[in-house]
Amino acid sequence: MDNLLLRKIPKIDVLLSSPILEKLCGKYPYALVKDAAQTFISEIRRDVISGRVKSVPSAAQAAEEIASRLEAGDIYSLKRVINATGIVLHTNLGRAPLGKAAAARIAEIAEGYSNLEYDIDLGSRGSRYAHIEKLLCAVTGAEAAFVVNNNAGAVFLMLNTFASGKKVAVSRGELVEIGGSFRIPEIMARSGAELMEVGTTNKTHPADYEEALDAGAEVLLKVHASNFRITGFTESVDIQTLAAMARARDALTIYDMGSGLLFPGESLGLMQGEYPAGKAMRDGADLISFSADKLMGSAQAGIIVGKKELIEKLKKNHLARMLRIDKLSLAALEYTLKNSVSPDLAAENIPTLKMLTRSESQCLDDAHTLEKAIRASTLRVETQVLLIDDEAGGGSLPGVTFPGAAVAVSVEGMEAAELEEKLRRRRVPVIARIHRQAVLLSVRTLSAGDHEEIAAALSEIALKGGGQGK
Ligand SMILES: *Cc1c(COP(=O)(O)O)cnc(C)c1O
Repeated sequence: MDNLLLRKIPKIDVLLSSPILEKLCGKYPYALVKDAAQTFISEIRRDVISGRVKSVPSAAQAAEEIASRLEAGDIYSLKRVINATGIVLHTNLGRAPLGKAAAARIAEIAEGYSNLEYDIDLGSRGSRYAHIEKLLCAVTGAEAAFVVNNNAGAVFLMLNTFASGKKVAVSRGELVEIGGSFRIPEIMARSGAELMEVGTTNKTHPADYEEALDAGAEVLLKVHASNFRITGFTESVDIQTLAAMARARDALTIYDMGSGLLFPGESLGLMQGEYPAGKAMRDGADLISFSADKLMGSAQAGIIVGKKELIEKLKKNHLARMLRIDKLSLAALEYTLKNSVSPDLAAENIPTLKMLTRSESQCLDDAHTLEKAIRASTLRVETQVLLIDDEAGGGSLPGVTFPGAAVAVSVEGMEAAELEEKLRRRRVPVIARIHRQAVLLSVRTLSAGDHEEIAAALSEIALKGGGQGK
């Protein structure tokens, strides 16, 4: 570490009292300018500590750079990124991408007024749920439907409405944690339900549930093992068996399906099919819920479908108002549902499904196109097209890989980690993974236009070279 260089980094108060930043404080909130200056200083510090730079900018240069970042709109924290990880439902990258058509629907509804809760025929108050209820019933075959903020909320609402103060049987193999903040045992406790663990981690038999019913269980809850797979000696009880047992005892069957595919996997050409929502209905589940922004490929929402009288009760729970879906998600959801009436239409118009169903040879062609775009913009980047395995991600289809393709890129004199970081810290960040000393750009998750942006980014990075700062 170069202590002398570290001491040369402009101090925050010097920067803030520079004429350029003082002027900027008249335009933007002081806290914002200060934050931009602090971010800039810590970036320089990091580069000095890592030995990546041999000089630091003067106070005047730094102030100018900070000002240009603020003026360029870098004040947005939430921004578009290019996902080159090949993980289609990347929870950290916003899960399902909606694509142009769904986004246009959101923009249209967002821009002005809408009939969100207005019945145009009657000229009086309507229901926000009316816009998607019929479609949801059509695509799942359910009697009735409801939608909330997200699936965690949906599970909570179902349990709070039907299991508060009651015993709920759940297999020990299904007491899952999703994404660190959603744990079935805790959600149950908060909803007022009393958890009855049945079976073991790897095996649960019908007799285990029978025992729970004998001991007073009034709800059988099945939870989809969304983000892991237990292999080897395993056994679980299917929804049909659970529903038959529950019905015989006047108990309810609730199924948290998690990723919630609307079609049999085979119909989409996905190697291993997930159990579709419609089948869970036909198999006799009373209520099922799933996320709208996982395999369904829509905006963030929690879908609940099932028996009419149960859905009516859910709607009357005061918690439903706190979990209500907003109009922008609703606009996206209506678009997705309209395009979910057949697997072919869905695979064509819903980006998540389109990406998941991209074949290896399509990916390979696309990887060659990306390689060409990179080569056309720079000769300083080494490229190699590779076959790789992509994943669905986002707590969906665990253990299932999707044969795809990537371009491995490297720049002479630059470590893969440095190249990965430089791609990531661009105005439009390119998120990639490192594999065997090269940065891998998977093409499955790229959209139109991303190729050129990646090529331009690589060309700029390679021109500046490694070890000399940004
Ligand atoms: C993803 C998931 C949830 C949480 O859904 P969100 O829409 O993220 O709130 C709950 N249960 C299961 C089984 C899941 O896979």
